[in-house]
Amino acid sequence: MPLTTSDPLTGLYDRAAFLHLLAQQVNEANKFKSKVALLIVDINRFFRINNVFGYDAGDEILKKVALVLRSVIREQDSVARIGDNRFALILSGVMNVGHAELAAHKIVRLLQSPFQYGERKIVVDCTIAISLCPLHASNPMFLMKECESVLHQAKDENKKIGVSATLEDEELPDDWDIELALDDALGNDQFAVYYQPKIALDSGGVVGVEALLRWNHPSRGFIPPNYFIPLAERLGHIKPITSWIFNTALRQGSEWTDKWGPLSIAVNIPSDFILMPDLKDLIGNALNIWGCENVMLSLEIVERSLVLELEKCFTVLQELRDMGVSISIDDFGTGYSSLSYFEKLPVDELKIDQSFLVDVVNNKANQNIVKLIVDLAHAFDMEVVAEGVEDFAALEYLKKIKCDIAQGYYFAKPMPHEQLKDWLKNFSGVK
Ligand code: C2E
Ligand code: CA
Ligand code: CA
Repeated sequence: MPLTTSDPLTGLYDRAAFLHLLAQQVNEANKFKSKVALLIVDINRFFRINNVFGYDAGDEILKKVALVLRSVIREQDSVARIGDNRFALILSGVMNVGHAELAAHKIVRLLQSPFQYGERKIVVDCTIAISLCPLHASNPMFLMKECESVLHQAKDENKKIGVSATLEDEELPDDWDIELALDDALGNDQFAVYYQPKIALDSGGVVGVEALLRWNHPSRGFIPPNYFIPLAERLGHIKPITSWIFNTALRQGSEWTDKWGPLSIAVNIPSDFILMPDLKDLIGNALNIWGCENVMLSLEIVERSLVLELEKCFTVLQELRDMGVSISIDDFGTGYSSLSYFEKLPVDELKIDQSFLVDVVNNKANQNIVKLIVDLAHAFDMEVVAEGVEDFAALEYLKKIKCDIAQGYYFAKPMPHEQLKDWLKNFSGVK
């Protein structure tokens, strides 16, 4: 059941879905040391087609381009419309740049034969940019930026295809010093746990917080977790870091006394941790030392970590629940959950992926997905959390469809422990 959003005109993935897929694919490539290619295809002077032939013709052209792109990709690849006249392809498991260039040449060739529109023939001119992970960037955001800058350069130079420059040692220029610094970050006390409150929509009170890791790099300042956590996973640092997060979060949590009752602390679990033999020990030890009545521990597990060895995962999750830990499925709706195993899923909470909250008040597709997940969770006696709630209108919609819990900048951004204590003291609930 892939809950992904699509562009209504072409039926391709839209930008939000595409960014998710890109993050997933880049993550996989980093983990399995494979390569993934990003291609951005831009239709040149598209406004002229609209001006000369009319908007209907423009729409027809976009649909035809979508068909061409679909015809070029393999089963494991994805194609999306990421802007008015801009498309993107993710080719996974490519061997080298040449492999991606072949696909680009094929697209250029197919688009060069004119489209028949009524009596007239329209020729589509495009520019394609190619960047590979990890060759040109090993983080989805940087890969996207790199590919966009290659696109602009290729357009400036009137080239049909532009490729990111490859360095001799096939590494990002400044990655190595980040990697070195990451080696010592834990020992040098450069990590901090920030907390973001979760609000119950019926009572308006706080029910818990999510623990989010922050790395304050000595010369570069705060580095986003989406960038350094995959790196820490790849370099084998994630286990001691996660153990440190459990201990820190539970220790700091024991200092909260909240007028809304005991709070839960949700800790994010890297996707390959569930089947790690000593996960229960790691959590059990932290609970033995720091556990207290004020705090309930919850684990946030991304949906895609439940695709392999499902039965084994279920057993582990049930054992963790038996220890008094609650389980939440994070980024729900972006993976490929099958409805058939829902009944057996030992899970307490679903967290709707925040991409579905984007413009939820006006975007009918997102509204439908959010409501679908809320109803699904309730049908299986789970609670449902919406994250990325940024405005009052989204909050109103979530209340209307009976979503249980919300989290987002509208209530509070993630904050350090001391600040959270003040926030809890002053927070008087959401009306
Ligand atoms: P996530 O688990 O989905 O965490 C939610 C992210 O959304 C957080 O970003 C949070 O700051 C952000 N966020 C919350 N409310 C809003 C909002 O209203 N609008 C917007 N635009 N964003 C909002 P953050 O802290 O940068 O973390 C990014 C990701 O990094 C997390 O996604 C999680 O996958 C990973 N991560 C963060 N901390 C940890 C950790 O301690 N361990 C592990 N394994 N992963 C972590
Ligand atoms: Ca999370
Ligand atoms: Ca999430």
